[in-house]
Amino acid sequence: MAKVIESISEWNEIYNREIKGKKSLGFVPTMGALHKGHISLIKRSVKENDITVCSIFVNPTQFNDKNDLKNYPITLDADSILLENEGCDYIFLPTKEMIYPDNYRYIVTETTFSKTLCGAHREGHFDGVLTVVLKLLNIVRCNNAYFGEKDWQQYNLIKDMAKALFLDCNIIPCLLIREPDGLAYSSRNTLLTPENRLKAPQLYRVISSNKPLDVMKEDLRNLGFRVDYLEEVEGRILVAAYLGNVRLIDNVQR
Ligand code: AMP
Repeated sequence: MAKVIESISEWNEIYNREIKGKKSLGFVPTMGALHKGHISLIKRSVKENDITVCSIFVNPTQFNDKNDLKNYPITLDADSILLENEGCDYIFLPTKEMIYPDNYRYIVTETTFSKTLCGAHREGHFDGVLTVVLKLLNIVRCNNAYFGEKDWQQYNLIKDMAKALFLDCNIIPCLLIREPDGLAYSSRNTLLTPENRLKAPQLYRVISSNKPLDVMKEDLRNLGFRVDYLEEVEGRILVAAYLGNVRLIDNVQR
């Protein structure tokens, strides 16, 4: 039975009594509305560790758009069943007050890579991500933390933060998981209109086409996407584009 943890002190008790020095601990931080992408991280953690914790916390500090935060899907009952079925041991459900007792006075800022790509037009987004991940890693005290390559820039920033701040935890990348039609699984996919949901897999098709970047951008615009960015970094094509007001991201190895 996956146990729900609703306070940090409750987790500290369990950690000190049952885990510390005895068992390996895997951790999967999420914002909930779980899908097969998240589940692949859970499966990997369950396989590689004695105990797995999944946190569900819609982190307000990483949303620069208040409507995006307001509309973010919440499906806690379904999430609990999925986690239970995968053999996840603990579901950590912190509140905003628990995570930010300092009212977000202390912030982790990366000065370079975080200002590009997903950070270029979303001010403070990665400050919010890095700060919440550092706090969660400090609370949970896992051996291994799992992050999806769907958010390739985020994974790299977290990996570099762990190194820069000497965190005692492995940051483990996990493959991007796609729906059968090629669309990368995302909690935001459920917000697409039926018409845009049909169009959405074209994002993957276009960035896999091996055409010059400008041509890919043009192809996406012609299909009705509003392109936020499309760039090549370290041999990888990275894209963010809107369909209606839903922002989709994806990436492929060139
Ligand atoms: P989120 O709930 O969007 O914050 O995502 C939680 C974790 O799941 C992050 O490490 C994401 O990169 C990962 N994730 C989300 N979607 C996918 C996917 N389609 N494939 C693999 N990992 C994913």
